[in-house]
Amino acid sequence: MKNLALHWKILIGMVIGIILGLVAIMGGFGAFVTDWIKPFGTIFINLLKLIAVPLVLVSLIDGISNLTDLAKLSRIGGKTIGFYLVSTVLAISVGLLLVNLVEPGNFLPEDKREELRLKYASEATMKMQSASSVEGSGPLQILVDVVPDNIFGAFTSNINMLQVIFFAFLFGVAMVMTPQEKVLPVKKFFDGANAVILRIVDLAMRFAPIGVLALLAGLIVDIAGDDPASALDLFKALGVYALTVLAGLAFMVVVFYPAVITTFTSIKYRNFFKGIFPAQMLAFSTSSSAATLPVTMDRVEKNLGVSEEVSSFVLPLGATINMDGTSIHQAVSAVFIAQAFGHDLTMLDQLTIVLTATLASIGAAAVPSAGLIMLVIVLGAIGVEPEGLALIIALDRPLDMCRTIVNVTGDATVATIVASTEGELRTGLDPDQLLHEEVLKEEARDERYPIE
Ligand code: ASP
Repeated sequence: MKNLALHWKILIGMVIGIILGLVAIMGGFGAFVTDWIKPFGTIFINLLKLIAVPLVLVSLIDGISNLTDLAKLSRIGGKTIGFYLVSTVLAISVGLLLVNLVEPGNFLPEDKREELRLKYASEATMKMQSASSVEGSGPLQILVDVVPDNIFGAFTSNINMLQVIFFAFLFGVAMVMTPQEKVLPVKKFFDGANAVILRIVDLAMRFAPIGVLALLAGLIVDIAGDDPASALDLFKALGVYALTVLAGLAFMVVVFYPAVITTFTSIKYRNFFKGIFPAQMLAFSTSSSAATLPVTMDRVEKNLGVSEEVSSFVLPLGATINMDGTSIHQAVSAVFIAQAFGHDLTMLDQLTIVLTATLASIGAAAVPSAGLIMLVIVLGAIGVEPEGLALIIALDRPLDMCRTIVNVTGDATVATIVASTEGELRTGLDPDQLLHEEVLKEEARDERYPIE
């Protein structure tokens, strides 16, 4: 058990939680689960919420302040960030379109949704707050709300995450513009703090198997009450939700990226996939764009012919800020939870999702489950109870594995088109041929500098 990978433990927790929930409904001890098991789920959710503000603050400041070369690389940088933003917004729009068409949350019966909403409406004040801020506000209110008048005020609630992001952005940019010798200690501090916060994420995730068990058992008891049949509705809704996320992810990999590659470069898309495939497989098995980065860089340079200059700038930046898969997942999950909890989302809510999911995917660290934690931000911004994470958490690992494939493929696509527009792409070659060239080069080097 000790050496079992975390995702297996989470899966086992999930199965035990479901069984416990079902047995509790049938055995009539639902109240026991609510009183003695469910609180551990709430503790887990609280841990995730607790990390959200410091994680965003520190990882964004750290990421932006690393871009000291941006002035030198401003042209490539501008193009890269432009492509990244366009693909992220497009990915979110695809996610929103799909989830609004399929409406997976509505697979739960109407009365259950209303019941869930009332049960989880613990943050009534939050909703009142967002309702009153929408009422009587002008069209630019959303912009005004992004700029905090007191940073400690912004830190006090997860609803104000956009304000935290704004502050982090400002701080990071100001660091880049300040003389290096002054900034160095600050930079070191944020480097270290970033490592510590990532470790906290890691610790919180170790608690995930128990958290998931408690959440699922509690949720099944809450949803089913004394009617076991309605637990089935929950599974149906979850299945449709997972398929909706997968459809969005598949669209990016099978339609969007190939279309971009064939439009902007002369690489055949079969060759593109052949080149990038090992990185995709590693992304799938590690659920981490950061862990996959060395292989992505290697394949993009050696098999797709992107120059090292371009790949070494575009790919690390992409692993940190460009997450198309994560952003599709954010959009579909936020709307699914809102539907399941009986919230009607307005057009303004959907636009808020586009904005916050973009920022959340930029702020998400390239490690497993980062997207799940960032979902707290999107939910907070549209006034949906973060307890809704309980609904989707058990499915997160397999979906994380799939969205990380999309994240990595998106980075490779942008690196290839930036290289192509810069004349830094060796084209017309088969990936195998390029690889062969590299091997020859390495052999020649080894001959020149034989290993003793
Ligand atoms: N695991 C993802 C990545 O590393 C991030 C996430 O969506 O959780 O790219």
